[in-house]
Order: sequence, then C-alpha cells, then structure tokens
Amino acid sequence: MKILLITEQRDAQWNKVSFETLVAAQQIAGQTKATVSGAVIGKGVAALADELAGYQLDEVLVVEHDLLAQYTPDAFSIALRQVIESAKPDLVLLPHTYQVRDFAPKLAASIGKGMIGDCVGYRHENGKLIFVRQMFQGRTAADVLFTGEAPWVASFQASAFRADLVAKHASGKAPVKSVSVELKPEQIRTKPLELFREAKQAVDLTQAPVLVSVGRGIKAPENIPMAEKLAKLMGGEISASRPICDEGWLPMDRQIGSSGQTVVPKLYLALGISGAIQHVVGMKGSRTIAAINKDANAPIFEVADYGIVGDLFEVVPAMIEELEKTKS
Ligand SMILES: Cc1cc2nc3c(=O)[nH]c(=O)nc-3n(C[C@H](O)[C@H](O)[C@H](O)COP(=O)(O)OP(=O)(O)OC[C@H]3O[C@@H](n4cnc5c(N)ncnc54)[C@H](O)[C@@H]3O)c2cc1C
Repeated sequence: MKILLITEQRDAQWNKVSFETLVAAQQIAGQTKATVSGAVIGKGVAALADELAGYQLDEVLVVEHDLLAQYTPDAFSIALRQVIESAKPDLVLLPHTYQVRDFAPKLAASIGKGMIGDCVGYRHENGKLIFVRQMFQGRTAADVLFTGEAPWVASFQASAFRADLVAKHASGKAPVKSVSVELKPEQIRTKPLELFREAKQAVDLTQAPVLVSVGRGIKAPENIPMAEKLAKLMGGEISASRPICDEGWLPMDRQIGSSGQTVVPKLYLALGISGAIQHVVGMKGSRTIAAINKDANAPIFEVADYGIVGDLFEVVPAMIEELEKTKS
C-alpha cells in the first residue's frame, strides 16, 4: 500500500496538524507495511520539504507553482489531482483543517472518489482499514470503510494523533522530489483577498498546552479577568462555553464545542461549565480534564479526571494566590 500525506503550510509556516496526520500515516504504514510520501504544496516551500524529509517517510514531494503561492480551492485541487495521478497512492491522508474542509471534497470528487472526513482514529482489522468518525455531535462514533477501488481520501481531526509521537527518519533524510503541475490562471475562479484581521489576532487554541475555560458559572464579564489571570499563570489561554461567546464576553474564536473549536490540550480546566454534550465534544479528548463546579451532579464531572465541587469564586483566587507564590 502507498500512502500520500498532504501537508499544509501558509507563508512557509506549518499548520501543525500536518504532523499529527504524519503520525497517523506512520502508524498506518507500520501496520500495513505501506510506504509514505509526504507532499508539500505552495510556493517557496523547499525549506519545509527539507524539514519534512527529516521525518520517517519514504519520500517528500514538493509541489510548487506561482499559482499555488496563495491558497485557492481550484488551484489546490487541480494541482493535487495531478500529484495523485502521478504518485498513484492507495490512501490520501490530510489534516482536517479549515483549508482541507474547503478543497478536499472537491479533490476527492475530481478523481471520482468519496472522502471520509474528520476522522478521530482508525483500526486495522482483518487486512482492512476502518476509519472512526464522530456522529450526532459526538454522541456516538461510527466505523466507516471505503468500498471500491483505491485511491481513498480521508482526513484526521486536529488532535486525533499526538504530534510529539512523530518518528524521525531512521537514516538521515528521505529523498525530496519535485513534482511539476500544470495550472492556468483561467482555471482559478476565486481571487484571495487579505486574510481577515480577526484571523491575525486569533489565537490557535488547538496549539495551547493549557486551557482555562469559563462557563456561565463565571456570572459576569467583570469576572473574566480573574480566569484570564489564572490562565496566564498556568501558561495557557482562556477559552469558553458558547453562552459566554454569545454574550460577547469573549470573542467567538475562544468557543469550545460542536460549533466552536475542538481542542486537546495537556490540561483543560473548566470553570463553571455544566458539561453539555455540545461543549464536551470539543474538549473530551484533552489529556487531563479538571473541573470546578458547585453542582456535584454536573455532567462535566463525568469526563473530568479531577474535580472540585465548590464555588469557583473561592477556588480560583486561592489557586491564583498559590501560583503567584511559586512565581515570586
Ligand atoms: C446546536 C447547538 C450547538 C451548540 N454548540 C455549543 C458549543 O460549541 N459550545 C458550547 O459550550 N455550547 C454549545 N451549545 C450550548 C450547550 O448546549 C450548553 O447550553 C452550553 O454549553 C452551556 O454552557 P455553560 O456550561 O457555560 O452554562 P450552564 O449549562 O448554565 O452551566 C453553568 C454551570 O456553572 C455552574 N456554576 C454556577 N455558579 C458557579 C460557581 N459560583 N462556581 C462553580 N460553578 C458554578 C453550574 O452548576 C452549572 O453547572 C450548543 C447548543 C446547540 C443547541
């Protein structure tokens, strides 16, 4: 079997979910004796390709073109279709980023295939690859198999695999090959404008090691700085349940859950969050979950590794005090 991993970069900066998907590719390859090719697509990405070659894969494909300098769904899907046609992989793996959501279904359709998107894991059973994806807002997980002939296209959700488990190349570096693609300006039907200002400011919560997340238990916007202080002392970021963002107490990009971000930090500390399924689906994969809630029966305690049944307005100041002592 041959796996083609399509990585993602912007302005020569990796989208780190690429390395999580590389871990998935390495693990699948280990179990199926597959080879792994990693594609880097864009313009001026030779240094990234060289960096990727230092990891455990069989080859790196550099796909460069002037018309790939800025992302457009047309250029990326047309170019990658050509890469798939020349590399002939059985399985195409992508990180399930916003960009991938935008172009990958089109790419899969352009080669006459379906796609299993947003997978949270896989199993290799009886010679078959089974992909696992959440359904009904995370209430259940479904096993999904490809039918028909390869190539198959699948994407993995952010944090489904741990990037720190990525294996380095055993004997130096994988070979880097350039793949030329044909693209014409008239094939591209959209013109990218400047990125939103919001996106420039936005924190990527998926990269934060610690998240201190506030829910309606925080009571009023005046109390948010207290949680922000705690987050800062813990070396993390602040996030929130939906009502907090709906109220405008924190920006929308801080929202965790089915209509917000999915995160898997090392530590997720939930302050006054009840643990509704739409929230839990976005944070239940966190490595350690701690919750402070005055209701001992709050559903958040069902997913928490550590819980404090208490008033957050007593517990949080005490935590801040202790942390300040250790910092001084
Ligand atoms: C289609 C749809 C999509 C949704 N998407 C999302 C989403 O992406 N993210 C999301 O979060 N929600 C989402 N929701 C909303 C979700 O159903 C819940 O309503 C929401 O998560 C509840 O937020 P909360 O836990 O902050 O508030 P509440 O459910 O009101 O819980 C507040 C908690 O704070 C505790 N508390 C109160 N005072 C204190 C105190 N002093 N000290 C300690 N604890 C205290 C209470 O015991 C309670 O458990 C969605 C809903 C729908 C229908």
